[in-house]
Amino acid sequence: MISVDEALERVLEHISVLEAEESPILGCLGQVLAEDVFSPITIPPLDNSAMDGYAVRSADTRGASPKSPRLLRVIETVAAGATPSLEVKAGEAIRIMTGAPLPNGADAVVRFESTDESEGGGNPPEIGILAEVEPGTEVRRAGEDISAGSLVLRKGTVIRAAEVGVLASLGRGKVRVIRRPVVAILATGDELVEITKPLPQGKIYNSNSYSLAALVLRYGGIPKLLGIAIDNEDSLLAGLRLGKEADILLTSGGVSLGDYDIVREVLAKQGEVVFWQVRQKPGKPLVFGVFRGGVRDIPLFGLAGNPVSAMVNFELFVRPAILKVMGKKSLTKPTVEAVLADEIENSDGRRVFARAIVEKHDGKYLARLTGPQGSGILTSMALANGLVVVPEDKPRVKRGELVKVMMLDWGEEIDI
Ligand code: AMP
Ligand code: MG
Repeated sequence: MISVDEALERVLEHISVLEAEESPILGCLGQVLAEDVFSPITIPPLDNSAMDGYAVRSADTRGASPKSPRLLRVIETVAAGATPSLEVKAGEAIRIMTGAPLPNGADAVVRFESTDESEGGGNPPEIGILAEVEPGTEVRRAGEDISAGSLVLRKGTVIRAAEVGVLASLGRGKVRVIRRPVVAILATGDELVEITKPLPQGKIYNSNSYSLAALVLRYGGIPKLLGIAIDNEDSLLAGLRLGKEADILLTSGGVSLGDYDIVREVLAKQGEVVFWQVRQKPGKPLVFGVFRGGVRDIPLFGLAGNPVSAMVNFELFVRPAILKVMGKKSLTKPTVEAVLADEIENSDGRRVFARAIVEKHDGKYLARLTGPQGSGILTSMALANGLVVVPEDKPRVKRGELVKVMMLDWGEEIDI
C-alpha cells in the first residue's frame, strides 16, 4: 500500500498536458491561455475625461474657489463617443461627459461638483469654476491601460472574468486555450439502478456517477456518463470501451477485496495497473493505471465504491490530474489551520480525511465534524466544506488541537 503523496506523484507522472484549441472567450473560464496575447489597439484610444464636468485650460482656474469663482464661457457640450469640434481657448470651457475625448486646447477637467453646476444637468452659457485644477486633472491618458503592440496576457495565464474582459476590450472573440479533458465515468455494481428508473427492492440509485460528473464540471472537465456496468468482466470491458475516446476514465466500485471486485483484473488485462490501495481513509481501495483498450493510452482511476470514498479519491487524485491536463500549475487545494472541536481516532496508520464544517470564530478557524463519518454517509460530504487531515502517524487528535483542513469550498464560491 502506498502513501497519498506517493500515489499522487505516480498519478501525475502518467498525466500530460492536452493540446490547444481556439475557443470563444466566454467558454474559456478557468482554462489556460495557450498563446501570448498582444494588443492590436491602444486603450484608451485618446486622452479622455475621467469625470462628467468641464474641459478647461488649467491656467484659467488659478485662484478659483467657492468664494471667488472663475467664470468661463461654455462653447460646446461633448458626449462619450462624440468628437469635440472646437478648441478650448483662454476663458473658455467645453462641457464634457465621462469617456469623451479631451478637446484640443484643454489640459484638465473640472468635475461638476467643483463648479456652480454642482447638480449637473444644466446647459449654461457660462460656468463658474470653484476650484483650481492642475494640468492632467481628471484626464485619462491615451494608452494608460494598454498600448498597441504590447503583450497583454501571457501564455499560461488562467482565464478568469477579468481576463475575459481584457480580451473583449481588445476585440478578441476567440482565443487559443488548452482544451478541456473529456472524463468518462462508468459506475459498477449489480445493485445499481439509474436515477430515472423506479427503485426495485434491495437496489440503490447510482449516485457516484453524478457526484463525480459534478466534480468534473466543477474543475473544468467535460463529463461523459457511460452508465452502469454489472459485476462481470464482459460488462465492465464493454462499458470502458464506450469511453475509448475519453482523455481520462473513471470507474467507481469493484476495487475492494470482494468476490465481484474485478476492475483491477480487467485493467491488468487491458492495460497496466500502476498502483492499488492507498494509505488513506476513506478511499483506500483506489486503483490507478493505464487503459490500453482505447484509441490511445488512457489514465484510468478505479475509484472506491462508497460514495464518500469516491468523492475523496476524486478530490485527492482526479482533480490534480484534470488541472494538470488543462495546463494548470497550481494543483493543490487550499488548506487552513483550524482548532478541532471534536476528537478523531486514527487506529491503523492511514491518512484520515474527516468531513468537517469550518467556520471563523474570533479570527480563528474552528473545525467540527459533520457527524458520523461512515464512508457510505454521503450527506456528510453535503454538510462539509473541508476535510480535516489527520497524519498517518497520529493515532488520535484531541479536542482543541490544531489541525490542517483541506478546504473543499470557500463560502458559496465555485472555483473552476
Ligand atoms: P464496492 O467497492 O463495489 O463493493 O462498493 C462499495 C459500496 O459502495 C457498496 O455499498 C456499493 O453499493 C456502493 N456503491 C458502489 N457504487 C456506487 C454508486 N455508483 N452509487 C452509489 N453507491 C455505490
Ligand atoms: Mg461493487
